[in-house]
Amino acid sequence: MGLPEKLSEIKRHLPANVKLVVVSKGRLPAEIIEVYNEGHRIFGENKVQELVPKYQDMPKDIEWHLIGHLQTNKVKYIAPFIGMIHSVDSLKLLKTIDKEATKCNRVIPCLLQMYIAEEETKYGLFLDEAADLLSSEEFAGLKNIEIRGVMGMATFTDNTDQIRKEFRSLKTIFGLLKKKFFAESDAFSEISMGMSDDYLVAIKEGSTMVRVGSAIFGHRH
Ligand SMILES: *Cc1c(COP(=O)(O)O)cnc(C)c1O
Repeated sequence: MGLPEKLSEIKRHLPANVKLVVVSKGRLPAEIIEVYNEGHRIFGENKVQELVPKYQDMPKDIEWHLIGHLQTNKVKYIAPFIGMIHSVDSLKLLKTIDKEATKCNRVIPCLLQMYIAEEETKYGLFLDEAADLLSSEEFAGLKNIEIRGVMGMATFTDNTDQIRKEFRSLKTIFGLLKKKFFAESDAFSEISMGMSDDYLVAIKEGSTMVRVGSAIFGHRH
């Protein structure tokens, strides 16, 4: 299968409410343009230093999402154009995003990255940490960010039952946060979960955004 066929194969599996973020990390401009030419506009990158030159070189109607860990000192480089940040894992980072967004006169859509994996990973908030963040006075003062939902990464494993359990826990977390902090807000609506190997499981468990790279582009160079 060529790239356009792989892309439309994946799109065929997506319910109407599920968005596809095509993960273009490590891909050549020509590969990205091939997806762009199929009409796709949402791309995800996990590193600021790779994202910024791509933003500069690629068509300006691409909506870029940052899906990897973000350091506070790098926020300023993406604040002028980033479409969504999936990886917010601290109040400090959120405050920096708000500050840089204010300078750009923008409101930046953000997701809280939640810790759902059984394996030890470095990034992500526990439910009580997210609740503390959202109930803080400092958070209430941030006007140039909008929390649009949650993101999570399942354990790197072949065990589908475990992956399903972890996705289910993210959906539960989403529901709890929605009820407690966003009951009045339609904006809090996204659950970013699912990658090349597990996006079908993620969709069954309530994903609204899947982040897919290698299933479209093949193995990374
Ligand atoms: C690389 C990456 C993906 C996509 O991974 P594939 O297995 O290539 O689909 C999704 N999310 C994050 C955070 C990533 O870093």
